[in-house]
Parts: sequence; C-alpha cells; structure tokens
Amino acid sequence: MPLQGKCLCEKIAVTVADESLPLQFASCYCKNCSTTAGSPFSMVAYVDKAHLKIEGQPKIYSDSKTDSGGSVYRHFCGDCGTPVQTLAPAIPDKAVVKVGLFSDSLGDINKPAVELFTVNRQRFPWLESIEGVPQCERNPPS
Ligand SMILES: [Zn+2]
Ligand SMILES: [Zn+2]
Repeated sequence: MPLQGKCLCEKIAVTVADESLPLQFASCYCKNCSTTAGSPFSMVAYVDKAHLKIEGQPKIYSDSKTDSGGSVYRHFCGDCGTPVQTLAPAIPDKAVVKVGLFSDSLGDINKPAVELFTVNRQRFPWLESIEGVPQCERNPPS
C-alpha cells in the first residue's frame, strides 16, 4: 500500500509508491536541516523521485549556504511552514523527504540507516550517536 503523508494544513499531500517502501531513514544534523526542523536533526528518507508524488504547490527556498557546500532546494508549505522535501542537484534521481509528513500514517519509526553531518552533534553534547548506525561526519556517502 502506498504511504501517504501531508503537511500540517493538508494543502500538500505526499505519496510514496510501494517500490520505495519500507522507507530507509537518515537523521541529518546539517545546520540548515536543524534550523528548519527547529531541532538538533531532521529525520529524512531518500526516495526515488519516480516513486514520489507531491500534490499542492510547495514554496521553494534555494539554499546555497549548506554544510555540504552544494546548493539544495528546500520545498516547504507556504501556508503552514511544514518542510516537505529537499532536492539536491548532486543526486538528481532522489528526493530527500521529511519524515514528519507521515506522523499520521507511519507507525513505529525504525532507527536511521545512517546519521549525517554528525560533526554538528557536538553542539548537543547530551545527544549520543545511535549504536550500530553508520556515522557520517559530513556529506552523505554517494
Ligand atoms: Zn501546509
Ligand atoms: Zn541536512
């Protein structure tokens, strides 16, 4: 069954096709994910664009001051502010989808398959790495 998600005001709906399920999660500690998430890290899933459908019109912020050094496009709902996805030209076939969209549809959320930009975790000395999960100090492995 496809996975359905939505932003807070429900003007943007997101559907992930079966082919990309179950989702593989990553926690991203890059500074800009932290800022937009309002938390130490953002939970995301890398989804094949071909398996992702987005309905509604997200606003797009062109983010050039990234920890990775590359520009990314942050899509979010212009009405309620929910982060929806990040698109990076460096990975043209993938969308980095925000897991928060699926609060109502996803049950227990597995631990991430990888943690990204963990160099920033030192800002949160009380937060520990997840045992057994690969730690990526900076850019995601390509
Ligand atoms: Zn919204
Ligand atoms: Zn990030």
